[in-house]
Amino acid sequence: MKGSSRKGLKKCKRILVKIGSHVLNTEKGLNYRVIERLCDDLSILKDQGLEFGLVSSGAIAAGWSTLGVAAKNMNLSKKQALAAIGQGRLIRAYNDAFGRYGYNVAQILITREDLDDRARYLNIRNTFTALFELGIVPVINENDTVSVEEIQFTDNDMLSAMIVPIIEAQALIILTDTDGVFSADPRVAHQATRISEIRNLTHKHIEQASEDAGKMGRGGMASKLQAAHHVSLLGLPTVIASAYHSQVVSSILDGRDIGTIVLPGQKKKLSQKRHWISFVTRPKGKIAVDAGAMKMIVNAGKSLLPSGIVRAEGNFKAGDSVEVLDIKGNVIAIGLSNFTLQEVLQIKGAKTKEIPNILGKETNEEVIHRNNMILRKEML
Ligand code: GLU
Repeated sequence: MKGSSRKGLKKCKRILVKIGSHVLNTEKGLNYRVIERLCDDLSILKDQGLEFGLVSSGAIAAGWSTLGVAAKNMNLSKKQALAAIGQGRLIRAYNDAFGRYGYNVAQILITREDLDDRARYLNIRNTFTALFELGIVPVINENDTVSVEEIQFTDNDMLSAMIVPIIEAQALIILTDTDGVFSADPRVAHQATRISEIRNLTHKHIEQASEDAGKMGRGGMASKLQAAHHVSLLGLPTVIASAYHSQVVSSILDGRDIGTIVLPGQKKKLSQKRHWISFVTRPKGKIAVDAGAMKMIVNAGKSLLPSGIVRAEGNFKAGDSVEVLDIKGNVIAIGLSNFTLQEVLQIKGAKTKEIPNILGKETNEEVIHRNNMILRKEML
């Protein structure tokens, strides 16, 4: 972000706003006040030419409050059923609230698998581009009715961090039920004070933050900071603030001292594709390399060649992402393999010029090209 301070927010033209389950629901149903106030705020900003994507949680909670099903009895399929009930209500609320200003919304329900696949990822990106061209507000949520636990996004905070590069947003605003990040958990420590700005987000900040997301949502403060970390590696800011603050989004974009801004550090920015390899696509296998190859990759910035490979496992095709391990099994990088697992097993240890003979075809020389590889230290 230019200027790397709150003032830089004034220059943002396309922003992703994420709002959590807690603030969108009361025990009696959807919190229409919060939705209407947010949509009023965003509509006025849209009138001024700004564009918004909205990641909205709250489908499960809306279904729950509609039916009054006891939260403690919820297994996954009941949650999925509640999401199916609540999602319609949620989107209708946004449709009505934006409709008063003459704006239309589009519902986008995404699964982790959709983003895992590069072709589907790029298709989704094209759909967003078309929606923005049409002046629509995309309202995004996880497709909870088809997502089972193993393939879920960790939560909608992490989903938001993945959506930021897809829609080419210039900032992420996460709206929640606290005023931002505090020096201690404000629910138990009354002397806790709000942290206005975090410049060098470290794993310590994330570890110290609360994991507790309450009974309806999935992400606590730790996952909001984790999401902010992923966004900061794109060179972009995240603001975490209270959804109850009046005109919260316009106040934030006006550069006012509200919530906590997490500013990108000095690290080299990850491109959209490298961000996708690092945080979106999930590794389908592992390739272990010898000490020489490790040095070439980590210290000399080289590609992974077959000669340095000592082991490979998993179930990957050409184009899938794999973890690169050192000899002790520590992850040193993630990258896209040019070969299937079977091919890697055939060519491991071989010299580059021997590959066509072994595989019986002309191929890439590198198992993972440098451009498609991210070192673990670049992701921290
Ligand atoms: N997708 C879930 C819902 O709409 C919320 C997930 C989360 O809280 O992060 O209810």
